[in-house]
Amino acid sequence: MSQKNTWKNWAETTICYPSEIIYPESEEEIVQIIERAKKEQKKIRVVGNGHSFTQLVATNSILISLDKWEGIIEIDDNLVTVRSGTNIKNLGELLFQYGLAQENLGDIDVQSIAGAISTGTHGTGIHFGNLATQIEEITFINAQGEKITCSENQEQDIFKAAQVSLGSLGIITRLKLRCVPKYKLELKNVKGNFSDCMKQLENYKKENRNFEFYYFPYTEVVQMKFSNTTEKEVKEGGVMKFLNDIILENGAFKLVSEISRVFPSQSRRVSRLCGSLVGESERCAWSHKVFATARLVRFTEMEYNIPMEHFSDCIHEIKKKIEDTQYDLHFPIENRFVKKDDIWLSPAYERDSAYIAVHMYKGMPYKKYLKDMETIFEKYQGRPHWGKLHFQTPEKLKNSYPMWEQFHNIRKKMDPNGLFMNLYLASIFGE
Ligand SMILES: Cc1cc2nc3c(=O)[nH]c(=O)nc-3n(C[C@H](O)[C@H](O)[C@H](O)COP(=O)(O)OP(=O)(O)OC[C@H]3O[C@@H](n4cnc5c(N)ncnc54)[C@H](O)[C@@H]3O)c2cc1C
Repeated sequence: MSQKNTWKNWAETTICYPSEIIYPESEEEIVQIIERAKKEQKKIRVVGNGHSFTQLVATNSILISLDKWEGIIEIDDNLVTVRSGTNIKNLGELLFQYGLAQENLGDIDVQSIAGAISTGTHGTGIHFGNLATQIEEITFINAQGEKITCSENQEQDIFKAAQVSLGSLGIITRLKLRCVPKYKLELKNVKGNFSDCMKQLENYKKENRNFEFYYFPYTEVVQMKFSNTTEKEVKEGGVMKFLNDIILENGAFKLVSEISRVFPSQSRRVSRLCGSLVGESERCAWSHKVFATARLVRFTEMEYNIPMEHFSDCIHEIKKKIEDTQYDLHFPIENRFVKKDDIWLSPAYERDSAYIAVHMYKGMPYKKYLKDMETIFEKYQGRPHWGKLHFQTPEKLKNSYPMWEQFHNIRKKMDPNGLFMNLYLASIFGE
């Protein structure tokens, strides 16, 4: 079947055929698209950079991309107003020119800033909330075509709903970001042992600006990443960085992943091989260049937020479940730590949090593994990352989020007739 417009997400877990894909270049144009969509009884979804694993963006009606709505609008000291389609990598470069930076980032930088905050994207570090906590003010166009500007001091309820909204309140056009003076980070990749890492966990979290670790299934190996601010000269990691970033994290990893896919029974051996190859490296660079890694190997992913105090029990249970079940699996498990916030649909709402991410190489069966992991996450009051796969029902989500009702009251005011809804949102919102 030939389709005029085909849209796929990065993981290729979602494919859809929008009736039109529009790239507006002004807020006035966005208002006109909304008015026309209503007249023609069409729906609208907005896409950032398609890096969510769920069906959030899927539509057979109008798809709006803000790729042509990029850049800085205004700088007032450390408060920077940006167009919502600005890509995080470009934003890092632009802020750098003004001596500024984002206080924290996730492990890729290809998302649009609006796309990233809308699903509660986060990095790691117990002194930092998810990226949406860096936002001082949001401007969006709602389904009535009204331009709404909200912040802690103006329309606070709308602001708390809009900070993480899955694109369901309207089209975000401007974000005012609270930035910090530019800073350098020294990143150390260290190979370690799982139980030693668990014993030192509290110290590692407290004593480092950003700490995370990967656990390699069917081994006792962890790869730990420590990042701290530094005044040292910029220094790239040479051969070991190359080994880690390009060979281990990407090139060779793709090769061994293919072996796992074609010969699934070898995946445990592959995981052990990857664990044995974990190297150590150091580098020092400006922050926006340190957080992000290239991701050349495609995968599907589930990530859950659990209260920090349950992390140790949860990760031990996951490790045991994997060893007992012997899944065909070779992807390491990523563990990060984030400060609580007060954003209604943020997975870190009112709890200091650990995030545990489980992945499966593209093309390998993932449902049983992810469902089993979800059962464990649920036992520890898990809340799913909105951009990653999960199998939650509206009833369960409602029980997990104390401000669920309040969020939906605001959503229904901003979008009374479901202009911004799609089937996926309807299924998780219980519409
Ligand atoms: C390889 C990889 C690595 C990742 N690493 C991390 C990580 O380190 N930490 C983490 O937390 N997550 C991570 N993610 C998940 C990712 O950050 C989120 O899914 C993020 O939302 C994707 O941003 P995007 O720009 O691609 O948005 P999309 O996936 O295109 O959209 C996400 C949501 O935002 C909405 N949206 C986009 N723009 C607007 C707008 N202008 N107005 C209103 N709504 C809008 C969309 O409608 C959709 O609901 C990763 C994903 C991948 C594939």
